[in-house]
Parts: sequence; structure tokens; C-alpha cells
Amino acid sequence: MRFHVITIFPHLFDSYLADSIIGRAINEKKIEVLFYNPRDYSTDKHRKVDQRSYGGGPGMVMHAEPILRACEVARGKSQKRKYTTIIFSPGGDNFTNTYAMKYAKSYTDIIMICGRYEGIDARVKKILRAKEISIGDYVLTGGEIPALVVIDATARQIKGVLGHSESVEEKRNASHEVYTRPEVFLWKKKKYVVPKVLISGNHKDIEAWRGERGEKAGT
Ligand code: SAH
Repeated sequence: MRFHVITIFPHLFDSYLADSIIGRAINEKKIEVLFYNPRDYSTDKHRKVDQRSYGGGPGMVMHAEPILRACEVARGKSQKRKYTTIIFSPGGDNFTNTYAMKYAKSYTDIIMICGRYEGIDARVKKILRAKEISIGDYVLTGGEIPALVVIDATARQIKGVLGHSESVEEKRNASHEVYTRPEVFLWKKKKYVVPKVLISGNHKDIEAWRGERGEKAGT
């Protein structure tokens, strides 16, 4: 699966994509992340990608053309009809695990457009028939963290990305409440113990306990 990220700040992704599970998935070629910088597609001599907004108000708006050109290059590298295009916007549809599962299952390529400043000229969405996605009810300074969220949540749905395929929550009872050693943890003179059921060895009871505590993600 390939993630195509359209961003004017590609280096913001470097450290997160280099480490841990996602870093390994990239090294093992389970996923690929490609970047397209709208500045490289700007026809302006200063490679400007933003302008003041029509109607006034503070903040700059990202030009349509450099983003559309970058997107055309990304689409050119994608498998026909197997790609989807996302524009990040705080007003978009809420991203959930249901989306992550659908992306992992239905597409080979996901093109993501990261906004900055006051956002992206609204004609980009119309022209590309892109889906607007929000990662939550707050306003960030750009779409780069949302893109990392989508990459991370989608990648862990892809076979072989997590160590064991059964690590994916949707395929088993997973609890938000987890424990590891020691069984009795002493902290500032107080004892904190692991729930008895988890050391009972009774797998049926353990499953039931986990089922009660783990609501299924994405639902
Ligand atoms: N005034 C704008 C906010 C722009 S924030 C508005 O109300 O829509 C700048 C960019 O950050 C956005 O274009 C978007 O790409 C990204 N962004 C900010 N918050 C986000 C969120 N919660 N989910 C997804 N993208 C977000």
C-alpha cells in the first residue's frame, strides 16, 4: 500500500516514519510513503503557494494549482481506480477505525492533501472529488499530523505490519486495560495488583473479561 502525501513540510514526517512499527513496515516494503511538495509545482517565481483570501480576513489560503499539479503526479503513480483522495480539514468527516479498515482493504494508493494556514482553495475538493477528513474536533496548524494518524491507523490494518496478525484489535477481544510484570506493584508504600482473572490461566474467563473492558474500535 502506498501513501502519497502532498505537503509543503515533508520533513515533519521524517522521525515518526523512521522508527518503530511504521519504520519497520517501510523497511520491509509493506507500506510506502511518497511526498509531493506543492512548492515544486508552483509556477510563481518565488515558488509561492498561498495568497490572501477572497472576502478578507486574516490568514492565507493555499492556491489550487500547485496542489492539483502535485496531485496529478501522485495519481499518475497510482493504480487506476484503486486510489482515493483525502483533503484534511477540521470540518471534514471524522476519521475512525472503520475508515482505516476500509482504506487498508479497498485501496492500493491513498493520496492525502495537507492544508496549512487558513486552508486550501475549496475548488481543489470539487475538482478532485476528494473526501474531507477530520481527525478530531480541534484545529491544528496543518494536515501533517492528520496524515500521520491516517498512515499509522491504516498501516496496522495491513497484514504483516504488526508482529502477529492477531494483534489487530478487531480480530480478537482487546482490552484498553493491560498489565505486565510485576504481579504486585509497590509504589509509594501502596500495593497495586493485577486483576486475578488475568493470572487464573482460564482463557475463557480472560477472554470474557477483556471483552467487557474492550469496546471494539471503530464502532
Ligand atoms: N480556518 C480553517 C483551519 C485551518 S487549519 C478552518 O476552520 O477550516 C490548517 C490546516 O490544518 C487545514 O487546512 C487542515 O488541512 C489541517 N487541520 C487542522 N485541524 C485539523 C483536524 N482536526 N483534522 C484534519 N485536518 C486538520
